[in-house]
Amino acid sequence: MTSSRQKKRDAKARASLRDIYQRLLDTHGPQHWWPGDSRFEIMVGAVLTQNTAWTNVERAIANLKRAKALSPEAIASARHARLAKWLRPSGYFNIKAKRLRSMCRWLLVQGGVRRLARLATEDLRAALLDVHGIGPETADDIVLYAFERPVFVVDAYTHRLFARLGHLNGDEGYETVRHLFEESLDADVRLFNEYHALIVRHGKEVCRTRPHCECCSLLEICSVGRLHRAPRGRHIPDCANEILIAR
Ligand code: SF4
Repeated sequence: MTSSRQKKRDAKARASLRDIYQRLLDTHGPQHWWPGDSRFEIMVGAVLTQNTAWTNVERAIANLKRAKALSPEAIASARHARLAKWLRPSGYFNIKAKRLRSMCRWLLVQGGVRRLARLATEDLRAALLDVHGIGPETADDIVLYAFERPVFVVDAYTHRLFARLGHLNGDEGYETVRHLFEESLDADVRLFNEYHALIVRHGKEVCRTRPHCECCSLLEICSVGRLHRAPRGRHIPDCANEILIAR
């Protein structure tokens, strides 16, 4: 492909991803991610949110706070059974207790959160990926939301939404999708923060496994959505109510 064709294609992808972002923002408004009183609390939340709803994470973090155990030292030295009991509301609590303890021990060896904050983004990301139980999505949650670095977080909602919109085939790997966003958008922490949060919100409420296409602000740019759209004459749902039920 000639470089001018490539440039045109890049510009189109860039405009399209910006357009999708704006439509999602206009629909859902700012999401105010990530809730947490400190970088460390955000790191803990990123580990605990794997395979569970955020309300369950909040209950587990509340248990840690109540036990005065929300610190790397307290978690690293807690007995497994005790830690697992605090984490029980977040599900998979035995696995999460091991993962959380590994991260805290690693954090202490590294010299704490402040020391980590001095690392370059790629070094920070690589170091996190070496920790037991931290995969790319969790590492990028931490790098973006706790350390405020411009990496794009990719999850199952991202794959599903952008495959339906025709930007992905659906079988791309994590890094391919991350690079697509990072190369097409400005390296802007606030943009990446909001965009990922909006994708999650839209994936939970509208572009679900069975999508609510009639209620979707992306319908006119989505070929899959046009196939799902109700035939003429069929009842059009009250979208505000539908989405409320879906939550
Ligand atoms: S139109 Fe339907 S399939 Fe397309 S993004 Fe919206 S909900 Fe998903």
